[in-house]
Amino acid sequence: MIIKHAQLRDREGLWDIVIDKENIVDITKDYPLKDQDKVIDARENLVTSPFIEPHTHLDYALTAGNPSWNMTGTLSEGLNIQRKRGDLSKQEIKTRARKAIKWYIANGVQVIRTHTNISDSQLIGLHAMLELQEEFAHMLELQIVAFPQQGIYTDSKMVAQLEAALKEGADVVGGAPHFEFTREYSVQSVKKIFELSQKYNCMIDIHCDETDDDHSRALEVVIAEAYHMGIGHLVSASHTTAFGSYNNAYAYKILENAVKSNINFIANPLVNINLQGRYDSYPVRRGLTRVKELLETGINVCFGHDDLLDSIYPLGTANMLQVLFMGIHVCHLTGYDQMNKSLDLITTNSAKTVQVEQEYGIEVGKPANFIILQAKNDYDALRRQSPILYSIRQGNIIAENNPLQAKLWLGNEEDEVEFLY
Ligand SMILES: [Zn+2]
Repeated sequence: MIIKHAQLRDREGLWDIVIDKENIVDITKDYPLKDQDKVIDARENLVTSPFIEPHTHLDYALTAGNPSWNMTGTLSEGLNIQRKRGDLSKQEIKTRARKAIKWYIANGVQVIRTHTNISDSQLIGLHAMLELQEEFAHMLELQIVAFPQQGIYTDSKMVAQLEAALKEGADVVGGAPHFEFTREYSVQSVKKIFELSQKYNCMIDIHCDETDDDHSRALEVVIAEAYHMGIGHLVSASHTTAFGSYNNAYAYKILENAVKSNINFIANPLVNINLQGRYDSYPVRRGLTRVKELLETGINVCFGHDDLLDSIYPLGTANMLQVLFMGIHVCHLTGYDQMNKSLDLITTNSAKTVQVEQEYGIEVGKPANFIILQAKNDYDALRRQSPILYSIRQGNIIAENNPLQAKLWLGNEEDEVEFLY
């Protein structure tokens, strides 16, 4: 397969990408076509590495309205609705999650990390995800986080269940230390998570300080553990919304130590702009972590969608460009240079976070995994929320969308405008 006339993020001009079986074998100009070549003309559009979803909850995806709609929009009502619903069957979880995965694929996502609640003793959600991981293996990488949603020490069975989930094949150990009863339990839970990551040789991704409480300080413990164990690159702190409320003296200490520890941060702009600030009188906080300052300090940050059409977040179409659009606004990242490299936040930074960097990138010798966007560059894709024209994985087309085209009837003339805006 040959991709003709492609814009690339890191090179000037138009390029042809030559694919042999599963891999990219050449990136060149004016590649001479042979009769038997399968050709996709990118028509001067942007070809980029696929989008990555580093933080979602597929086991709840598409459950909004079941058994009732969230009337306040708050996290506490969302969690109450989940409790009222009780455990879904494996089949119900798979049916909804399968649909959500297909939405992600249609939107150019090829790697998903999903936090799976392991609070039920049967580990139903985990089993559903393991089966979907196998079912979709040829189309995307699905990483499963064993997620004790209400913390580890709030229930005497939770450590055993977390360990069982890791034994059964979860790829990442998760946690929620801000839900523990006390500061001491919170510290203990972070230490237990790191201990389990060593025992089961897995990555760490913690729902960390997802609260507006500026005294919620699990993040400093995550940083310290990662630093002392030298495994920061395998560790992600998700949300860290309390970091947005810390006093500056403390926040800058955290920034310095985060650099030393080399951990990754995942912010979830759609969900946290919605959930945070709910206890505030005016002014109402934005409730996101300090994305701009983290990036300026050289720390790796990426964006996740998080909940998708469930009791906690009632919107979403599994489109990472929507996530990016919200994040760019909320985090004040609308500087021209910032917008011109904004796709990093849903591509390369995410690849580093979920540890798929080795196979990721449009380079000779790497797997032919990429998307073609109906856009010329990052800024264009961000501004116009461009659709994906093609998603290609290991040399095969796995998704294709028709280009959006507007037709105007101005008097008698039919005027076709490919890009209206
Ligand atoms: Zn989450």
